[in-house]
Order: sequence, then structure tokens, then C-alpha cells
Amino acid sequence: MNIVIIGAGYVGLVTGACLADVGNRVTCVDHDPAKLDALQRGQVPFYEPDLDAVIVRNVAAERLSFAASLEPAMRHADIAFIAVGTPATEDGSADLSHVLAASAELGRAVERDTVIVVKSTVPVGTCERVQRTIDAELRMRGVPWRATVASNPEFLKEGSAVDDFQRPDRIIVGTDDPQAQRLLAALYAPYNRNRDRLIVTDVRSAEFTKYASNVMLATRISLMNELARLAEKVGVDIEAVRHGTGADPRIGHHFLYAGVGYGGSCLPKDVRALARLAAEHDQSTPLLDSVQAINDAQKRLLSAKIREHLHGRLEGATVALWGLAFKPNTDDIREAPSLVLIDELLRAGATIRAYDPVAAERVRQAVPDARLQLCRNARAACEGADVLAVVTEWREFKSPDFRWLAQTLAQRAVFDGRNLYDPQYVEDCGLRYYGIGRGRRE
Ligand code: NAD
Repeated sequence: MNIVIIGAGYVGLVTGACLADVGNRVTCVDHDPAKLDALQRGQVPFYEPDLDAVIVRNVAAERLSFAASLEPAMRHADIAFIAVGTPATEDGSADLSHVLAASAELGRAVERDTVIVVKSTVPVGTCERVQRTIDAELRMRGVPWRATVASNPEFLKEGSAVDDFQRPDRIIVGTDDPQAQRLLAALYAPYNRNRDRLIVTDVRSAEFTKYASNVMLATRISLMNELARLAEKVGVDIEAVRHGTGADPRIGHHFLYAGVGYGGSCLPKDVRALARLAAEHDQSTPLLDSVQAINDAQKRLLSAKIREHLHGRLEGATVALWGLAFKPNTDDIREAPSLVLIDELLRAGATIRAYDPVAAERVRQAVPDARLQLCRNARAACEGADVLAVVTEWREFKSPDFRWLAQTLAQRAVFDGRNLYDPQYVEDCGLRYYGIGRGRRE
């Protein structure tokens, strides 16, 4: 098939590259000249494991190309995906300006009957707005073409996006149009062979399913974080509790980790957007409100623990910080817990020596403060530091040399924001250990 993707970000680029990889001809369209320039030079503008190889392979095979505008690719397009950003606005609602601008552009560029697929995460009712926007442009042009809008929310995870796209656990398609349904079933057939993962619903249910999935994940994290706070008070290790509760198949082990809160470009904004949608329909959302409040507090927990260990004296202290990305295997720092910790430490007068395998440059641009020193590796970050805080669970942080840390960190303490370490072992090596919900009887 001939495919056009609007928006060459994490979702659009992965979708485009993977669809090209199974034989489709794909054009990824993006407005950002820097991004486009990088892609045309064969560089992926962000870090995502395995993505560069898929892009290089398909550009070489002439199945994947990049463009600044929809013409001429729309002349041959069977399907056009909208995969532009839907960030949060001031009031928490999803900013649909990019989606609606892309829709208007599509209406001006459609040159044949085309299925338009909204992949961006959008509130219920948005696909209908997209349809109206495109139809208005088509009417103005007086052309006979039909654009059929369908919803197909994306569930890939940054850090394993290529694998997630190629081996999805579900493919949600929202449409009432049999032709669009057939076309999308054919498009996704390569990923749907050993069992049927295609779930076809009406458009609004598909839009809602994406938000429902993300708020469930966020709720699980905030619930674990609330339990962790109590565990700490009553002398219980939340890690033991996690193993015990996760063993129940109705609960399961995934996404059950206490930590420094969820971040990234999806969970925070999607929880806010769903709460906002409810407010617009005069429905209160006490649970979603608590999920957000717990998460906001959780992001500030580590700085409070560090302050306490240093007897309130953060001014002049040096904190080594391992991990800046909102999770491992990505350089995405959108709403990362590290940014809250950095902000609190800098405002309290501390110096930070930070290391992240791939996200350092993005943080440098976001926080241009000389007291945030970006270091070349994990050990270098600890040199001259008083304490160490671990915020992202990159593999290389999982088994550090604690004896070396005990000799290096002046105030001999590790703040484990992801519960990576065995508290007793760390303390046996001569360090004070602080985790999230790692209560123990003294
Ligand atoms: P992103 O910010 O990485 O990329 C969006 C891209 O769209 C940018 O490159 C931007 O330049 C481009 N763009 C905006 N308007 C355009 C236009 N009119 N024409 C051409 N290009 C345009 O965003 P993302 O992280 O890929 O997310 C895209 C959508 O997918 C969002 O709605 C997000 O919620 C959803 N989503 C994201 C993820 C994820 O892990 N990132 C996962 C599932 C769903």
C-alpha cells in the first residue's frame, strides 16, 4: 500500500519505518525542518533502540522517504496517518491544534478516495472533528473524493517501540466503515498472524480505550506509591509486597513498581486530559485527581529524603544523579521525574553532577544552569559528590561497585528512586540506603 504519515516523531517515525519494513511505500511528512534535515541525512533525531537500522534499510530499498509537504505523496495514498503531538494545554485538555491543522492540510491535499487514520491520542469526539474539517476543505475544493476517518490509537512504548509495533498485544481500530475496516485489517495483517489481535470498535470507543489504558497504568503506579509510603512508616519492604501481590494473576507483576513517579509524554498528559474531558461533561474525577496528586508528590520525595539526610543543608552540597530520561532506553525527558529533582536541588543551592547514557544533551538544553554538571559516565558523576540519587533504571546502574561508592561519596548515602538495590547489601558496603517504601525494623 501507499502510506502517508503526518508527524515524524516517536510514533509517526516508528509507524512509518515498520510499515515500510513489511513492504509498503511510506512517506513521512513533518513540518520541523531540523528533523527533516536529519532524517534526510540518515540520522534519527531521537534515541530509540533498533529504529535507525529499520530506517536505513527501508530508505535504501526506496520504500521509505521523508517530505516537508503532503503533495505529491497524497496523489497515490491509500491511507494517511495523523501522528502529530497532542500536548496538554494550560487547563490540562489535549491541544488539538496540530491534529486539526494536519486535518485541514489533508483536506487540501487528498487526490483520491483515502482512509485517514488518527493515531495521535485524542479525546472522544476528535475523529468526528477531523472528519468535518477534511470534508469542509473537500467541499470548498469541489472535488469528488471521499476521505473516511478512522481511529487507531497507538500503544507502543518508547524504549521498545519497534518491537512493540511489530509484535503488538492489540490493534484497536475504530470505524463504522466496512471498506476502511478491510483496508486496515489488510495493512495490519503482517502483525496479526499467529492470533487475532485486531479489535474493531466504533470510533469513540477506540479513542476512549487509549485514555482508559493509560489512566489504568498511571493509577497502578500511584497506588503502589501510596502503599510504599505507608510501608515505610510501618516497617514493611514494598518490594516484598510487590512480589506477593503480583503473584496473583488478577494483579500481575507488570507496572507494579513503587518509585519516583511516572513521567514521559503520555501518562501525565493523558490523565490530565481525561480528567478535563470529564469536567467538561460535569463529572468529577476524584480517583484521577488523586492519581495526579500522588504522582506530583512522589516526584518531590527524593529531594526531601536527601535534605533530611544532610540535616537540611542542601546549600553547597553536591548530588550525583544517575539517570535523566523519564525511563530507560529513551532520550525522552518530557515530564521526567529527574527534572523535578534537579529543579528542587538547584533552588535549594545544591550542585548536581548528572549522568545519563543518552538524555544528557536534552537536559542541557532544558536546564541551562552551570550548577548542573553533565558527566561522561556514572563514576565521574560521583567524583566530588556528597550523595548519589538514582532516578532512571538504566541497566548499567543496576549493579554498581558500592564499596567504591562508599569511599567516594563524602556523605555516604544512596537514594534509590527505583528500588534497584538490596538495602542490607548496600549498608553492609558502608553506605546509608534510602529507597521508596523500603521500611525495615531497626
Ligand atoms: P512527537 O512530538 O515526538 O512528534 C510529533 C511530530 O509531529 C513532530 O515531529 C512535529 O514536528 C510534527 N508535526 C506537528 N504538526 C505537524 C503538521 N501539521 N504536519 C507535519 N508534521 C507535524 O510526538 P509523539 O511522541 O510521536 O506523539 C504523537 C502522538 O502519539 C501523541 O498524540 C501522543 O500522545 C501519541 N502517543 C505517543 C506515544 C509515545 O510513546 N511517544 C505512544 C503512544 C501514543
